[in-house]
Amino acid sequence: MIATKAGTSDSKDFMIVIAHMDSVGKDFAGADDNASGTASLLETARVLAKVPTKQSIRFFITNGEEINLLGAEDYAKKLEISGDIKNITFAIAMDMVGYNSNGIVELETNKEYDAAANFMTKMAETYTTLKTKITLGARGSDHIPFLNRAVETVLTIEDWSTKTPCYHQKCDTPDTINYVYAGEITKLNIATLLEKDH
Ligand SMILES: [Zn+2]
Repeated sequence: MIATKAGTSDSKDFMIVIAHMDSVGKDFAGADDNASGTASLLETARVLAKVPTKQSIRFFITNGEEINLLGAEDYAKKLEISGDIKNITFAIAMDMVGYNSNGIVELETNKEYDAAANFMTKMAETYTTLKTKITLGARGSDHIPFLNRAVETVLTIEDWSTKTPCYHQKCDTPDTINYVYAGEITKLNIATLLEKDH
């Protein structure tokens, strides 16, 4: 599913927010991975709908993440073919943002985009209660097809060293979700999009 909030400028530049809605498919699995990221994306869209931004913001809920990033790979390829990928100024992916006990959000990207991760750390300090952990060396989520096409992309994900014990299991249910934490990551991403808007 793709939705675009129009910007106020004539520029073709846009930012993109990405989350996958598929799970690994076991019964009841998928509250943290990745209903949490999808809900966070929808809330981001709801809040930003009322706020004028210069750039357009595109919201991309993808599918098939758990099967080799199928949806993100397909869409990134389409954007590459159309040439639109060059107009993306910044991308945020959200995958597993709902399980946490230590208040740390991991910001994952590749080393050429460490400035974006540092910028988001500043945003976290300014606007949220989160602490950040920057991981340079992206792998395994929807940020990859965009990073591979030279788009500055950061994945926000729960601190992987203390990730949900129900990862890809039946017990990944809503009662395990830390809604305050997911809300703080949502705030971080909204603040980042607004402060990066130019
Ligand atoms: Zn996931």
